[in-house]
Amino acid sequence: MTFTSGDQAILHIDLDALVANWRRLGAMAPQAECAAVVKADGYGLGAAKVGKALQTAGCRRFFVAHSEEALALRQALPDPQTVIHILHGPTAGGEAELAAANLTPVLSTPGQIAAWSALAKRLDRRLPAALHIDTGMNRLGLTDAEADAVAADPGRLDGIALEFVMTHLACADEPDHPLNKQQADRFAAWRQRFANLKGSLANSAGIFLGTDWHHDILRPGIALYGANPLAPSAGPRHETGKMAEVVHLQGKILQVRSVDRGMTVGYGAGYIVEKPTQIATMAVGYADGLSRALSGRGSAIIKGRQGHVRVPIAGRVSMDLITLDVSALRPEDCPPGTPVSLLGGGIDLDEQAAQAGTIGYELLTQLGKRYRRIYKTRDMEDRA
Ligand SMILES: *Cc1c(COP(=O)(O)O)cnc(C)c1O
Repeated sequence: MTFTSGDQAILHIDLDALVANWRRLGAMAPQAECAAVVKADGYGLGAAKVGKALQTAGCRRFFVAHSEEALALRQALPDPQTVIHILHGPTAGGEAELAAANLTPVLSTPGQIAAWSALAKRLDRRLPAALHIDTGMNRLGLTDAEADAVAADPGRLDGIALEFVMTHLACADEPDHPLNKQQADRFAAWRQRFANLKGSLANSAGIFLGTDWHHDILRPGIALYGANPLAPSAGPRHETGKMAEVVHLQGKILQVRSVDRGMTVGYGAGYIVEKPTQIATMAVGYADGLSRALSGRGSAIIKGRQGHVRVPIAGRVSMDLITLDVSALRPEDCPPGTPVSLLGGGIDLDEQAAQAGTIGYELLTQLGKRYRRIYKTRDMEDRA
């Protein structure tokens, strides 16, 4: 892309802030290893870029969801010392390819265990893996009966070099939820059954629950990317979950128009102007991941001579455009070309997500492909 002065919005991704978040989470559990979850293309921010930045900072263990994601990440991080885990386990029939790429699946079913063990025997070498035991999520992982059968008959793991056992918390973002303690207790009991193996329990929010949840390997995702992993209902503790800002989405005003009282703005003519209003149009829409649910709800920040001014989204979000009520600014302070922040730069990711009726996870992973992405690191700006 050589045409750099168009109306395309810019997604600034601050890799230094990402690394700072990873270091901060690791420092909360100094005896544990801090891994990084980079599934869904690094929560929408680019798994290869995120992975390389964290690897440079010392991260040696990554988690993705799919086998395809793992194979792609291995291309970006070829160092054999860098461990890449597949949370969904090895794709049936694809085990040999995954082993050849030095990937370490998380085994969640008796069938996956049997297939990985059979491949190890066939190759006549030990294949690394982790074991996922369900403790209350009822989504992935061995059931109690299945885990019990494996613990009672270690022969099922023949040829498998088990690195750790793991489980996943259902309610870590709500620190007072009783399931957190129950899952920690159940997991501690399973670790006894699988003596000498390391354990991994905490996602981002789990790290904030305390030492009983830390175990040996941390698995943060969302907090690395700057979202607050703790729910607003966590009360004063919510504040402790504030992370360094990684994402700043910035677009430009295309046009500003005066709209008279009684006129409407946008599709459906649902937004009726009650007093003379200045409407600014910018080139970001739902095709760019700004949910249609933000119609008449979300806000933006315009940085003008009056400082940061928060303005509301007026009318419906359309595919490629949104309209803002900029009546709070003087026209000379928001001419076409004025930069507008939609995420970051004064607009909290979690707050904008909540306005859309969703969570930071979904907002990030929906960010579209049309942005010009600028990755910032201490040494350079990498324009992609
Ligand atoms: C996605 C995921 C994580 C990371 O969770 P965050 O809430 O983003 O920190 C950790 N473990 C498992 C099993 C996951 O699926």
